[in-house]
Amino acid sequence: MAKSDFYEILGVSKSADEREIKKAYKRLAMKYHPDRNPGDKEAEAKFKEVKEAYEILTDAQKRAAYDQYGHAAFEQGGGGGGFGGGFGGGGADFSDIFGDVFGDIFGGGRRQRASRGADLRYNMELTLEEAVRGVTKEIRIPVLEECDVCHGSGAKAGTQPQTCPTCHGAGQVQMRQGFFTVQQACPTCHGRGSVIKDPCNACHGHGRVERQKTLSVKIPAGVDTGDRIRLSGEGEAGEHGAPAGDLYVQVSVKKHPIFEREDNNLYCEVPINFAMAALGGEIEVPTLDGRVNLKVPAETQTGKLFRMRGKGVKSVRGGAVGDLLCRVVVETPVSLNDKQKALLRELEESFGGPTGEKNSPRSKSFFDGVKKFFDDLTR
Ligand SMILES: [Zn+2]
Ligand SMILES: [Zn+2]
Repeated sequence: MAKSDFYEILGVSKSADEREIKKAYKRLAMKYHPDRNPGDKEAEAKFKEVKEAYEILTDAQKRAAYDQYGHAAFEQGGGGGGFGGGFGGGGADFSDIFGDVFGDIFGGGRRQRASRGADLRYNMELTLEEAVRGVTKEIRIPVLEECDVCHGSGAKAGTQPQTCPTCHGAGQVQMRQGFFTVQQACPTCHGRGSVIKDPCNACHGHGRVERQKTLSVKIPAGVDTGDRIRLSGEGEAGEHGAPAGDLYVQVSVKKHPIFEREDNNLYCEVPINFAMAALGGEIEVPTLDGRVNLKVPAETQTGKLFRMRGKGVKSVRGGAVGDLLCRVVVETPVSLNDKQKALLRELEESFGGPTGEKNSPRSKSFFDGVKKFFDDLTR
């Protein structure tokens, strides 16, 4: 399949600078992000395409190779660039993509010398009531936190990290790769510019230790399955004093025994007996705020939906409050006693049989239709 031009994908000119590219990427990544387009394969494909274009055009060497050789620069085994495979292969999973977009869009996107702590994800199950009204929950999570003993430096008390002998503190070294001279993270110090001679005993030189942390998480009213709440800086501590990652609380709402939520509307099913359906009456129906009375008009058919305005959910994203939709279902009576059976037979006779025209117009027209169908077949 022919690939689209990376500049076209991002909607920028060939001379666009990094700022313009970044801006275009942010806009498109937000638009096509899988979280905003659940189940939409096209958006997912678009998202990957945008991400790939962004990754290449913001990397000076890759961009140069692309400008010179086009897509051929990145094809496996071929082309001139020597950057085989590695990106755009579709192997990126969503947690990756997620980290990237949000790291970039919300985190400022500056590259740190020491590596920023990992983002964490916590799956939180809520009841429908909690999700609709909001709730504060305590959670316990295992996290890597900055080591108290060395304050994150990783060096033993009284010692300091030493300047790296390989890169002399620059954190980067020059390497030749194919046509290009590539700036790479120093292999000795992994880009930090310093090495630890005497590691801290408590953290073995990592600058971080694992701990259980209790956090109080405020869940705003109106969240739904699939929503995430970001707690900035509550993820893993960074190595050697680098900034911590973020914690994402992933919400999923448990199945409710009565209500089902769809967007901001709530649905529930209310069984009524057929005497009530025929004669009408008033029933009590549940809402999340308690019971309300619902007038069932005479001659209500099974499956009829009654809408109660404003008894649904107010979305966490704002907007109008949804409705409660009650579907009445006519329940056929069971465990009838002899007297009830006799009454029903009497009633049936009064209908003039099972397809009595006057009392059951739908049965009548259905069986008339069936009769015509068979008549046409045998003609
Ligand atoms: Zn330590
Ligand atoms: Zn070094």
